[in-house]
Amino acid sequence: MKGCLFCKIINKEISADIVFENGKFLVFKDIYPKAPVHLLLVTKKHIRSVNDLKLRDKSLIGELFLLVPKVAARAGVKKSGYKLVFNVGRGGGQMIEHLHLHLLAGWKNEKESCVPGMP
Ligand code: AMP
Ligand code: ZN
Repeated sequence: MKGCLFCKIINKEISADIVFENGKFLVFKDIYPKAPVHLLLVTKKHIRSVNDLKLRDKSLIGELFLLVPKVAARAGVKKSGYKLVFNVGRGGGQMIEHLHLHLLAGWKNEKESCVPGMP
């Protein structure tokens, strides 16, 4: 989608710290991390938000969730644990209107795992 930051990253028009890529997804480090490990799992297909998911996106979203443990393992946080967050719409804190799943992890203890601005 023209003018979409994440589409530009997907198309390599803008650089990002990419940690995983396949035909359907791109995973890169959040530029303003809210946790020691903060990754964004992004669908290559431009979908605005969870609100815009269609039945035809069912398998894509299933694959996105199946990608999570793989990415978490690569980041070394599968065993220690992580948070997954979808911000939906402006009221939900979504700034980039291209579907992405936040993976947050890497805190030293449970108390620190409360991310400001995130559940
Ligand atoms: P959201 O608020 O759910 O739309 O999340 C968007 C996320 O994208 C924020 O956590 C930003 O820090 C992050 N972000 C913005 N620009 C970039 C960029 N160029 N590269 C990587 N992450 C970005
Ligand atoms: Zn996009």
